[in-house]
Amino acid sequence: MLSQGTLYTISAPSGAGKTSLVAKLLDCTPKLGVSVSHTTRAMRPGEQDGVNYHFVSHSDFQAMLDKAAFLEHAQVFDNFYGTSQQWVESQLAAGEDVILEIDWQGAQQVKHLMPKTVAIFIMPPSKEALNERLTGRGQDDDTVIQRRMDAAVAEMSHYVESDYVVINDDFDTALADLGAIIRSHRLTLANQQLRHQALLSALLS
Ligand code: GDP
Ligand code: ADP
Ligand code: 5GP
Repeated sequence: MLSQGTLYTISAPSGAGKTSLVAKLLDCTPKLGVSVSHTTRAMRPGEQDGVNYHFVSHSDFQAMLDKAAFLEHAQVFDNFYGTSQQWVESQLAAGEDVILEIDWQGAQQVKHLMPKTVAIFIMPPSKEALNERLTGRGQDDDTVIQRRMDAAVAEMSHYVESDYVVINDDFDTALADLGAIIRSHRLTLANQQLRHQALLSALLS
């Protein structure tokens, strides 16, 4: 696939803070968007269809799978999640950078399909903090929280497959770290050559 924008995957155990960090990162970074996934999960209080996720039935999800509409998809806990291929491709082709907030299975699929993808892993500062954040979010019942805590170690073991690791202890520091990753990636030779073609050839003429 020919593309100009950079694709980032951000993975983390549930509750590590990726959604809050990405929301803030978008506010302060131009030309950066986040893909809204499709999911069969029930909507949480405060979530909005089309904003947090496209909430779909199993049969709608299956119909999209049949049409090969997903760049990647995975089952996480009891639910299916998938990323719209068309939206991602159109954003990248328009020169926009795109973030996918997806689990390790999805991040693996994307890295395989698009090896230039930059994979970021967000870690909590401790297991206790992760538990407190899941509880403090107040959106999942105790059984769901326990299952997510049980799954956290397995999810976190995949951090070694990422290019960058951010520890979300102090929120603003983690936010600055994510901003630094994106900013430095935009300054690489290949990306600067794309963005400043005219300037670079004028300077050398
Ligand atoms: P139900 O079949 O609608 O009761 O619900 P399931 O949770 O068992 O699965 C819903 C559909 O999603 C099934 O038809 C699966 O084939 C399909 N599906 C979606 N994603 C995946 C995937 O990653 N792996 C597999 N094996 N099936 C998937
Ligand atoms: P995820 O998307 O990874 O499941 P969220 O962004 O929903 O996680 O964050 C889980 C909870 O932790 C939220 O209530 C959020 O406000 C809180 N949180 C996120 N980052 C921090 C941090 N650095 N310190 C304390 N609480 C945090
Ligand atoms: P939550 O239900 O807490 O919003 O998300 C649960 C898990 O599903 C998280 O690990 C999240 O990263 C992952 N997830 C969300 N959207 C997608 C997606 O489109 N694809 C994949 N593979 N995982 C996703």
